[in-house]
Amino acid sequence: MTEPPAHVDAVVVGAGFAGLYAHHRLRRLGLSIQGFEGAADVGGTWWWNRYPGARCDVESMDYSYSFSDELEQEWTWSERYATQPEILRYVNHVADRFDLRRDIQFETRVTAATWDEDAQRWDIVTDRGDRVSAQFCIMATGCLSEAKQPEIDGIDTFGGEIFHTGRWPHEGVDFSGLRVGVIGTGSSGIQSIPVIARQAAHVTVFQRTPNFTMPAKNAPLDPEAIRARKARAREHRQAMRESRAGVVVPMPEDSALRVDDEAREAQFEKAWESGTLYGMVAAFNDLLVDRDANDTAAEYVRARIREVVEDPEVAERLSPRNHPFGTKRPCLDTEYYATYNRDNVTLVDVRSTPIVAITPTGIRTETDEFAVDAIVFATGFDAMTGPLLRPDITGVGGMTLRDKWADGPRTYLGIATAGFPNFFTITGPGSPSVLVNMLVAIEQHVDWVGDCIAYLRARHLASIDATVEAEDAWVDHVNAVANLTLFPTANSWYMGANVPGKPRVFMPYIGGLPRYTETCDAVAADDYRGFTFSPASAPEPEPSRS
Ligand code: FAD
Ligand code: NAP
Repeated sequence: MTEPPAHVDAVVVGAGFAGLYAHHRLRRLGLSIQGFEGAADVGGTWWWNRYPGARCDVESMDYSYSFSDELEQEWTWSERYATQPEILRYVNHVADRFDLRRDIQFETRVTAATWDEDAQRWDIVTDRGDRVSAQFCIMATGCLSEAKQPEIDGIDTFGGEIFHTGRWPHEGVDFSGLRVGVIGTGSSGIQSIPVIARQAAHVTVFQRTPNFTMPAKNAPLDPEAIRARKARAREHRQAMRESRAGVVVPMPEDSALRVDDEAREAQFEKAWESGTLYGMVAAFNDLLVDRDANDTAAEYVRARIREVVEDPEVAERLSPRNHPFGTKRPCLDTEYYATYNRDNVTLVDVRSTPIVAITPTGIRTETDEFAVDAIVFATGFDAMTGPLLRPDITGVGGMTLRDKWADGPRTYLGIATAGFPNFFTITGPGSPSVLVNMLVAIEQHVDWVGDCIAYLRARHLASIDATVEAEDAWVDHVNAVANLTLFPTANSWYMGANVPGKPRVFMPYIGGLPRYTETCDAVAADDYRGFTFSPASAPEPEPSRS
């Protein structure tokens, strides 16, 4: 491994979709770049999450980059919802095609970044002892990259193997003949449980909160449909950027409460059969803002569960009742509910009888002990702020990001945070990020940062920093928009509720992509309203040769 240079224009942390595009975009500006990535190769989410059944839940043809027409035309997805291996192949193809690994040091975590006020640069340190000075620090560290272990006593005493979906072994896991315990029924659990159940001797699912999930209706892509989409790729990509969630979904005009029962049922049926994540959420215009309207969607899903699951008690246990539909990220599945009709699957409700310990031979709840040979933690992530708060980030006047965000993240546009000049967070808290097709959000953020850096360089400015006033106003706006919805009523990871002690703040921006993008563009067009600049200091005079 070659040593990274001591001085670069920009350090990019992370080599998932965001980090890779940042390399491509900043390189075109002529910047020297050093990348660091904790994983052994590119891919981010798709490098780490190799659990059985892992797929995207935004359609493959939309869950891909749009920045290169050639890339769009030459890559062909095989399925409506691509598997993790296919997405990882795509990421590798992009890295090869645009020569993006060149400046990245893998298996290296950034452990600290400190703003040097005299030099107006970031001093960046890694767990391998590298030290790099950079004008810009781009955190492409992901919203869902900090895997979260559950707080359960006795984990270390377990005699079998424990796996986390977000840290899955590359060689795969053979569950044949094993009794497997799966803890967690979010998207990762819901995707993996049906696949594990087909292989294992027995699967016991430990469910704390049943989630809403809809059938993905995954299928091979029709070559004719691919050709048609590619033929109007530019137009389609533009429509995606202009849509609320970064995918083209017709905007609902009706209230769920203003139509009769038959019309409501028909609309939900259409949405359910569409096999899309946003179809049900966008079936009516008030599902996410009105509890009564929301109840109609929730009850529709519960009725579908009762249709599939043969044992009425199990169906009821699987029926979400403690949060409004859509306020925790809903899931797309393949045969999730039907899996509970299998003889080798048991569902345990750990809301009523919590897990008290992992023992050498299994999982103990308040009332029972379940013998298992292997355990899968599908327990999610310390989302959005986790990866940003893990390294020691220190800004102006010795202020640390951890202290600044002690009561919740504070950003301007989700992309900058006051007192941390030239520090950019790609899809950071306060931006649409996890509420939308993340590929659209990533490209929008990286492009904005690229334009901002070009602006600074054209004017010989050393640094840009958000003002506290602009940041306060943005945080207020993010909260105000969230409070118009039902989202803050759920104990979701959007709210930080899955991490004990984490401040309860609705972290993403729910105002939609078009409104957000317009705001970012207007800020830039208004000479970066809400930011201050520092001029570059005069260059040191050349030493005299006489
Ligand atoms: P990541 O892919 O998370 O990459 C960040 C990288 O930064 C990681 O590789 C990490 O190792 C590295 N890193 C973090 N901190 C450091 C550090 N200090 N030093 C060095 N390296 C560091 N979104 C969608 O829109 N549609 C989907 O269908 C979808 N499916 C998903 C499925 C799963 C299983 C998961 C977990 C998430 C999914 N997401 C989906 C969200 C997904 O995370 C994003 O779509 C996207 O992949 C994020 O890319 P990224 O580059 O921003 O972050
Ligand atoms: P998650 O949605 O946070 O789900 C974690 C699950 O583990 C929840 O059911 C949670 O219960 C449970 N849990 C956590 N700690 C527990 C404990 N101590 N005891 C019992 N249960 C516990 O995490 P995820 O499934 O990994 O998904 C995270 C996000 O990644 C998704 O929302 C999505 O954005 C993305 N993702 C997408 C896909 C896809 O389909 N493309 C797949 C995977 C992930 P509670 O709900 O009660 O906290």
